[in-house]
Amino acid sequence: MSTVKPRAERAAEARLAATRIEAEGVDGVIVGWVDNSGVTRVKTVPVRGLENAARWGLGASPCFDGFLVDDSLAPSAGPVGDLRLVPDLAALHRLAAQPGWAWAPGDRWTQQGDPHPGCQRQFARRATEALAERGLTVRAGIEVEWIVDGGEAGPAYGMRRLIGHSDYLRDLLRTLREQKLTVLQLHPEYSDGQFELSLAPGDPVEAADTAMLVRHTVQAVSLRHGLRASFAPVTAPNGVGNGGHLHLSLWRDGQNLGHGGSGPHGLTREAEAFLAGVLAELPALLALGAPSVASYLRLVPGHWSGPHRCWGLENREAALRLITGSAPEQANAEIKCFDAAANPYLAVGGVLAAGLAGLGAALRLPAETPGDPDGVAERLPAGLGQAADALRKSEVLRAAMGDPLWQSVLDVREAEIALFAELGPAEIIEAVRYRY
Ligand code: GLU
Ligand code: MG
Repeated sequence: MSTVKPRAERAAEARLAATRIEAEGVDGVIVGWVDNSGVTRVKTVPVRGLENAARWGLGASPCFDGFLVDDSLAPSAGPVGDLRLVPDLAALHRLAAQPGWAWAPGDRWTQQGDPHPGCQRQFARRATEALAERGLTVRAGIEVEWIVDGGEAGPAYGMRRLIGHSDYLRDLLRTLREQKLTVLQLHPEYSDGQFELSLAPGDPVEAADTAMLVRHTVQAVSLRHGLRASFAPVTAPNGVGNGGHLHLSLWRDGQNLGHGGSGPHGLTREAEAFLAGVLAELPALLALGAPSVASYLRLVPGHWSGPHRCWGLENREAALRLITGSAPEQANAEIKCFDAAANPYLAVGGVLAAGLAGLGAALRLPAETPGDPDGVAERLPAGLGQAADALRKSEVLRAAMGDPLWQSVLDVREAEIALFAELGPAEIIEAVRYRY
């Protein structure tokens, strides 16, 4: 069931990869993972250490599971023990905006060679495999939004803002192309200095990897242009937010199940059940997809952030926006309530698990919300505490995540709620502005 290869095979692959990237000028390899608070942490090895890293993994304390956004620790995180961080060479990329460096996402294993139960990336892979056992695949993509300091002022989606940042954005496109990532679209977003990138969809774990690689690339290219990019859920009180919208489509035997069925807007019964499962778990899923106290400064009506628990065809205020697209293969659903603070592996894994539960129970979608949901549909949790409570009560997510991961996420949520309890919106925003 596990797709992870034996040590000797990993080492042989790493030897080849290291020879290749060294010839291309790489000196160091970054192995990254995202913690429960949504922060990316890294270790690096010289390129000639890659083989050893792939064979044995790099030491990584389990206390990282209790790290908060400000680098303090949840009370449950202890100082004892060690894990092995193993680079996934299938996702190794040379970093075009950090010459001499390559990057690979890491999986975390125990010293005995078993999957670490708190590994978020392996949770996403397990959820993908559980769907595969039913003959189903998911294609996913995460939109990346960010705001740069001192960004050119001008109208939302405005040409003035694009002109002001032509060199920066061109550099970004070129860098992503050199890293072999397929950009679908790039545009100036709603607020000054805000941009959005969408990338070609892929396997769920690949989509989460891509979201991280794109974010790191945006950060690196921004610095080269004297800009600092923020992926915080909001960067100004009452401002528009940085979403991390998750698009997904469900497939069986090469057919998109979001098309040609007898359910609403052509959904097949399976796609409908999957989405109904997601809707049923959405309050709990927010503890994964909107993980910060700051997330709830974004999740308010009128910001296209999807703060209501409802769905609607092309409804940008609904948490679940159905998109039929112009061709059958384009049909997909967009979860809009997630933001850029989310650990994308937790978000993707949670959504797949909720969808799978919906399939198991053959759930049906409730009535569609065709217009503005405000005052009509149920509000999603208005604070992280409510979302964490929903996760605490979610048998579906608890079973899918396994108790160690589920508990460590809850510990981090509780500790961050306490951390920010005395702070107002402006102080919360300052505290997380450059953390994600
Ligand atoms: N920036 C908005 C958000 O916080 C989303 C805008 C859009 O629909 O792309 O989610
Ligand atoms: Mg957008």
